Amino acid sequence: MSPVLPPLVKSFKKGTQAVLDVLFPRNCLACNGLVSEGLYRYLCPTCARRIEIIQPPCCESCGINFEGDVQGTRLCPHCYELTPAFSCGRTGFRLSGVGRQLIHTLKYKQGSYLLPDIQRLVCTPLGYLEFLEGAILVPVPLHPRKERERGFNQSQLIAEWIGRSCQGVSISNCLSRKRDTPSQTKLSRQKRQANVRGAFMLKKGASIDTKSRYVVVDDVFTTGATLNECCKVLRSQGALRVDVLTLGHG
Ligand SMILES: [Zn+2]
Ligand SMILES: [Zn+2]
Repeated sequence: MSPVLPPLVKSFKKGTQAVLDVLFPRNCLACNGLVSEGLYRYLCPTCARRIEIIQPPCCESCGINFEGDVQGTRLCPHCYELTPAFSCGRTGFRLSGVGRQLIHTLKYKQGSYLLPDIQRLVCTPLGYLEFLEGAILVPVPLHPRKERERGFNQSQLIAEWIGRSCQGVSISNCLSRKRDTPSQTKLSRQKRQANVRGAFMLKKGASIDTKSRYVVVDDVFTTGATLNECCKVLRSQGALRVDVLTLGHG
């Protein structure tokens, strides 16, 4: 929760921001137009509205919204196939258009400056605050080589930014990658599952508190194979409640 600031500090901050905005004008990530109004720092109001935010009813497992009427089933066909090791999942927006650009920039173009916008986009409107309350967030680990190359782990940054506004949330880096798996982006559903099978382990010295609820955090949910492997490790170590959270789905 953001601290309550006295009015003088607030107006000073606003004034400083206004000066900074003149000196360093901000451009919209998607249309490159100047951003001078709206909720976001790097998305103009028009482009922000183009992000396909997930609206219920949703698949209980991966969080994707159903199209059309839903009767009975609460799992999407892909989650039926996956037989998930996690119970519930939330996802923020569809991985298309501006939403895709947001994650692509965060991940591949050193876009950590987008994190406050991402936090604003998903935390309150999508009920992430309630979903994460009291949970231990576990970012999907990158292989150390990949993390060195990229300079950061995007799942770690997402967990930190989303977690900081939630009550009683902590972050645990209790998982590690056993092997450096090839990128999943061009693989089929079956090959993705085989690619990451057994790729994760509990870090040496880490332990699981069986009374806690764990939420594994990743940037995107594609087939769920990577998240599922992480959840399997937590379950095999005794975690009873394991859920997942991603920013994008697609
Ligand atoms: Zn724009
Ligand atoms: Zn699903």
